[in-house]
Amino acid sequence: MKVLALDFDGVVCDSLREVLATALATYEAMTPGSPLIAGLRARHGDGRWHALDLAGDPVIRLFTDLMPLGNRAEDFGVALRAADDRVELADQEAYDAFHTTFEAAWLERFHRAFYEQRASARAIDPGAWIALHAPYPAVLDLLRRRAGDATYALVTAKDRRSARLLLDHLGVGGLFRPDLVLDKETGVSKTAHLTAVRERTGAPFETITFVDDKVNHLLAVAPLGVRPVLAGWGFNTGREHALARRCGFAVANTDDAEPVLFGGG
Ligand SMILES: [Mg+2]
Repeated sequence: MKVLALDFDGVVCDSLREVLATALATYEAMTPGSPLIAGLRARHGDGRWHALDLAGDPVIRLFTDLMPLGNRAEDFGVALRAADDRVELADQEAYDAFHTTFEAAWLERFHRAFYEQRASARAIDPGAWIALHAPYPAVLDLLRRRAGDATYALVTAKDRRSARLLLDHLGVGGLFRPDLVLDKETGVSKTAHLTAVRERTGAPFETITFVDDKVNHLLAVAPLGVRPVLAGWGFNTGREHALARRCGFAVANTDDAEPVLFGGG
């Protein structure tokens, strides 16, 4: 049977609100005197970030524009710093150059603190934390409907506990074999995750379709021989759709995901 390996954030789950709240909590703690944070506090008050409704705030646009260019948790810090310093980063090249201006120790500290903030928000009010994650209903319906037609694997940079909790919350936990939920401990790059998927399923790379909402992740794994597909409904823009097509990758949207992911179209 073919294997469908799915990224989590921006593919199975719209986690923007949770990710932004966790990133802001982390960034605020690490960046005293930040004008970006001062502006947000003036507009939204002093509550916990996970409890504030930032809908309509300009920071969402600034953040979502840069999200597709990052890779790991520390990239949310890089994106917020760019917004804070009003640095325009139009493409991957500009983003990567900006990223090199950060000290490795700062990035590492942000990475660690980000997961601590997430664990803390989850512990303080688990129900409210889970509620910050929205489903992509069409995608979840498709996965349920075609569950017999492919082996599903989850390939995520999230921690395992969060991933399992959220899969169950979205009602698709039972569709994933426990040994095919691969979390951030599997490795830094998704090539490590997909290598584990191949080993655990016995499926050759050529029969594995990998769906991610970041072109840089697809580019990283393409040399393995898997079939990369960009999830057009995720955290990306027309800029990424065009880039994916230039790279020869399929772009799936919610209205054509079924033929693109399962064949027949
Ligand atoms: Mg993603």
